[in-house]
Amino acid sequence: MSVADPAAARTIAEVRASGDVPLWVHPEWAERFPFLVQGTTGRGDGDEPFDLGLSGDQPVGAALGRWRALAAGTGMETVAHARQVHAADIWIHRERGAPGIVVMDRFDGHVTDRAQLLLTVSVADCVPVSIVDPEARAVALLHSGWRGTAAGIVERGIHRLVESWQSSPERLWLHCGPSICGACYEVGPEVHAGVHPEREPPAGNTPIDLRAAIAARALAAGLLPERVSVSSHCTLCGDSAFFSHRGGSPGRQMGVLGVR
Ligand SMILES: [Zn+2]
Repeated sequence: MSVADPAAARTIAEVRASGDVPLWVHPEWAERFPFLVQGTTGRGDGDEPFDLGLSGDQPVGAALGRWRALAAGTGMETVAHARQVHAADIWIHRERGAPGIVVMDRFDGHVTDRAQLLLTVSVADCVPVSIVDPEARAVALLHSGWRGTAAGIVERGIHRLVESWQSSPERLWLHCGPSICGACYEVGPEVHAGVHPEREPPAGNTPIDLRAAIAARALAAGLLPERVSVSSHCTLCGDSAFFSHRGGSPGRQMGVLGVR
């Protein structure tokens, strides 16, 4: 079988962690991997949304204040982010980096085994993909929209872990976080052709389940079905806990992942 069954991936509902920062965490991972900081930030419930976007119209000072709150709230020394370009380049952080908030250029994925380094990817419908090797305590965090998925960023993230830490795909855990669901994400044939090159694309606009496609790619790369999960939260038709680009929101949440 060349394409694994996407239905094999389990559906998980992230839960809001306690604390001032709106962070939605994978509850099973929280129990199984206490050495991780993991999850996706949300809108929050104050008058001012917890918008972490650095490239929109909001004043950078206001966003940076929230970034500092994210660092303080997660207890991480360094927080790394990169301007994303919907491609499949992944930066390997061999050092933790300077304390504070480090903004790099032009990467859609991050990999590290350094403690006290929080990786982040900006999303608002696209899929934040977290991959964990619990034995090596190495992690990968990917921004996987349809272009990145089509460009193979998920397979590349898995490969980076395998080649750098002698991981085997069977010992990796992968989760697709809050993003637009398979009912809401209506897209043209070119998107279907990019995400599912093995299939004949539909003639017109049709919904696509990006998370199911990512899960299928992970299983095809050798990950075990019981270790692959997808979020039940939709950024568009959900309970508005998250920003949605298609829903008209300019705000951005962050997928976050790091070793304490
Ligand atoms: Zn939806």
